[in-house]
Amino acid sequence: MTKVALCACPNYEAGNVASAVERAVALCGGMETFVRPGQRVLLKPNMLSAAPLAQRVTTDPAVVRAVGKLVLKAGGQVVIGDSPAIDKVSRISRVTGMKDVAAELGADLIEFCRPSLAKTPDGSIYHALELEETALAADVVINLPKLKTHCMMLLTMGVKNLFGMVVGPRKSQWHMHAGADRIMFADLLLDICRTVKPALTILDGVWGMQGRGPNNGTPCHLGFLGASCDPLAMDLALAPLLGAHPASFPLYSAAVRRGLVRSDGSDTQMVGDDPNGLIPQNFQLPVLESAMLVPRFMSGPMRKHLTSRPVQDPGLCRDCGKCAAVCPPGSLRFEEPRHAVIDHLTCIRCYCCQEVCPANAIHFKTGALVGIVERLRAIMPH
Ligand code: SF4
Ligand code: SF4
Repeated sequence: MTKVALCACPNYEAGNVASAVERAVALCGGMETFVRPGQRVLLKPNMLSAAPLAQRVTTDPAVVRAVGKLVLKAGGQVVIGDSPAIDKVSRISRVTGMKDVAAELGADLIEFCRPSLAKTPDGSIYHALELEETALAADVVINLPKLKTHCMMLLTMGVKNLFGMVVGPRKSQWHMHAGADRIMFADLLLDICRTVKPALTILDGVWGMQGRGPNNGTPCHLGFLGASCDPLAMDLALAPLLGAHPASFPLYSAAVRRGLVRSDGSDTQMVGDDPNGLIPQNFQLPVLESAMLVPRFMSGPMRKHLTSRPVQDPGLCRDCGKCAAVCPPGSLRFEEPRHAVIDHLTCIRCYCCQEVCPANAIHFKTGALVGIVERLRAIMPH
């Protein structure tokens, strides 16, 4: 039985975070269970972009500090790293204060840029994956995700955070490979997770993000930390508590199909605080707009009009060009001033442009078919 711990943590005040982290880790067996003296321990926070902390895009440094101190107490050496989709680790760490926390912990702060081929475990879909060498060489990986919504995968928590183990441009290649097929992308995430095998996952849910996450949603106070030795078990236990129907959560569908979890969750035990008193009932999930709703044999123009598609609001645009740089199939061209030209026939609806836009200037316009599905969903009982 895999334990998933929930611990109340009202804010990022250092004392509150330290005691909540200590309690959550104790409920999972204690840091000494995972870290032995002299071991090199990689902490992997979510460092998606250099957004101010109040936007709740990145794992709060207070959580990283509290976990890092427990690792030091257990005799481990701390390394902090990520491969951000937007901006560089150096800039993100300056803006968010992660740089100061790394200095306080005596930790190296690194940008993942050394891909290394790793064999995946038996039962994987992919035989081998190119992942960050530092992560593969670390004695212990501790996964420190932020609780956020995700326009493509519904939610990003423990499993999705490990996509950051894929180095820079390879991320776009994977998006291109999986396209709008969320289950295929979920299979990739599961293989990454099973290959990296984080010893412990501690989720920053003190403040999370709802709506159009993971970069342009709205902050949401949740007031808890989650923890588990198994990020998949944690994600699947928390998703329904956040209002997600299991069938709408691609990780659930992929994991059940592959026999990695029981469909009824009976292999997971919740410990710690009562989720009913902790998690708000009105958490706003994104509307999953998908090209998958239209069969592949349908012609391009039909897909274009029936499915949701990215549109740019030039009035909000800041001329940064990041949307064009990230677009995996090269369907989005940027022309100054403030004009994104999008070829909706070749666009794979991967949401990368929306995710990287620092100005929230790209939205998905609901297609006719998606609109019908959403209206039906609204009037049908859950
Ligand atoms: S235009 Fe946007 S959604 Fe379409 S493929 Fe490019 S990055 Fe992905
Ligand atoms: S639409 Fe967004 S990402 Fe693209 S150039 Fe404008 S501000 Fe940058």
